[in-house]
Amino acid sequence: MVTTGAPRMKITYATLSAENEELQAAFDRAVASVREHLGQRYPMLIGDERRFADEEFEDRSPIDTSLVVSRFPMGTRTDVQDAVAAARAAFPAWRDLGWRRRIGLLRQAADLISERQFEYAALMAFEVGKNRLEALGDVEETADLLRYYSDVMERHEGFVEPMGSLSPAEHTRSVLKPHGVWAVISPFNFPMALSGGPAGGALIAGNTVVMKPSSDAPLMGYKFAEVLREVGVPPGVVNLVTGPGETVGVELEQNPGIDGLVFTGSYEVGMRLYSSFTRDYPRPIITEMGGKNPAIVTRSADLDEAAEGVMRSAFGFDGQKCSANSRVYVERPAAEEFLAKLVEKTEKLAVGDPTRRENWMGPVINERALRKFTDAVEEVQRDGGTIEVGGAVLSGDGTERGFFPTPTVVSGLPLSHRLFREELFVPLVVVGEVDSLDEALEQANATPYGLTAGIFTRDDAEIRHFLDGIQAGVVYVNRRAGATTGAWPGIQSFGGWKGSGSSGKNGLGPYYVQQFMREQSQTVMGEEPPPA
Ligand code: NAD
Repeated sequence: MVTTGAPRMKITYATLSAENEELQAAFDRAVASVREHLGQRYPMLIGDERRFADEEFEDRSPIDTSLVVSRFPMGTRTDVQDAVAAARAAFPAWRDLGWRRRIGLLRQAADLISERQFEYAALMAFEVGKNRLEALGDVEETADLLRYYSDVMERHEGFVEPMGSLSPAEHTRSVLKPHGVWAVISPFNFPMALSGGPAGGALIAGNTVVMKPSSDAPLMGYKFAEVLREVGVPPGVVNLVTGPGETVGVELEQNPGIDGLVFTGSYEVGMRLYSSFTRDYPRPIITEMGGKNPAIVTRSADLDEAAEGVMRSAFGFDGQKCSANSRVYVERPAAEEFLAKLVEKTEKLAVGDPTRRENWMGPVINERALRKFTDAVEEVQRDGGTIEVGGAVLSGDGTERGFFPTPTVVSGLPLSHRLFREELFVPLVVVGEVDSLDEALEQANATPYGLTAGIFTRDDAEIRHFLDGIQAGVVYVNRRAGATTGAWPGIQSFGGWKGSGSSGKNGLGPYYVQQFMREQSQTVMGEEPPPA
């Protein structure tokens, strides 16, 4: 473990800057320290076994692909089958441990994660290319997710609810019980929070889990699972299998020993799982998917606030947040000034190695993502749009060994253009002009997605109209810290409507843990209520 002498300062995604020198120095120490340990081999966690394999894959840094961050086994379908068997065997004891002792362990894990915030954030910066504030936020969010879901379980006293009675000799209660074994499939972009949050929800509810992190970010998922074991969560309760979606993921989808599946990732993979997971038998599946998140800027908006909010949400972590703002509808009278301000702010963004303090943007995750960016830029030029700023890929100073697009603002495309509809997951935002708020809302809602949305306006009636009409699971009004991004556990619950999410209950919020349980109505005849 790395000792950084780290200061205690809570970093969230709304933290605008960190001028705290102690914090910056602690992060620099953590970067220097973890750099020396990059490239290690890690095992899968299956029952009480740390399982290595002959065939491995390398987790390379998008900052510099000559850096191997970690090496993980190429898991097979047999490894998944063994992990499922271990999780099934561990389930009864974990369930019977009771919710009080379970949340006791998960709260300890949360504290250990917070204690190691700098070490984990430095590793994450290398692994996926987050800047220091974003990486520190991701780690602390993981800890707060465990705390918040524990609080929900406690507030509801384990979800045992006394019900009415039709006679004095009858006692009825509603009890929520865990299902058994949940598969947890995670994306690369919040590699700790979106491994730890869903796994934490399932575990607090009393299930055991088999985790599959993204092959672009296996290390953060592994670190989360390791912490749980350190605080005494028994082997078999948390299992981790690494490897490609096509084998490991598919076995998780098809294995009948999996009782529920929670997936976070793209629409394409999520919808495939959604339709196939329940083909033979009903099983709960939660899919959190992509977004094409709009911001609306009306003529009454504070345009500096709007430009700042859009810039932060479009380019934070290179546009690779599911909540990233990728399209803007601005009312015509405000368009020119808004665009000028957005361009001015974008031009000032420093792009480069995100482990360095001065860089606010880093690389995109892999070559495929970079190609999506360059293809989109070509498409803008071909279809008569204007690249207001950006549109380039950095080279020189070693950046050619990574994947560094520049933040890009596009105008002049028709509102029906593909780039207003499809998720790209790169730092490119399209700005379109509209005649009214009604037209903006109609456009904002005209995609299959419905994850986040934002508006900038000084008019209360417009705010009400937006809140009534927008189709999205997370919405923000006049948020300088991020037009559409920056949700935090227990503050903004986070989930998608329509093609962005299947459950209608948001993560980070008060109805999440319940989704990992099923209800039993218990009626017991007798003068006295049954024992708890
Ligand atoms: P992805 O869909 O490519 O991968 C997600 C996970 O699914 C990975 O672990 C991957 O290995 C696995 N997978 C791939 N094929 C599979 C298969 N056939 N069966 C089972 N598992 C399979 O997504 P990504 O590129 O890692 O993440 C980016 C996407 O995630 C974006 O679309 C983003 O919007 C979305 N996302 C959504 C949320 C949300 O809360 N709604 C949060 C973060 C990311």
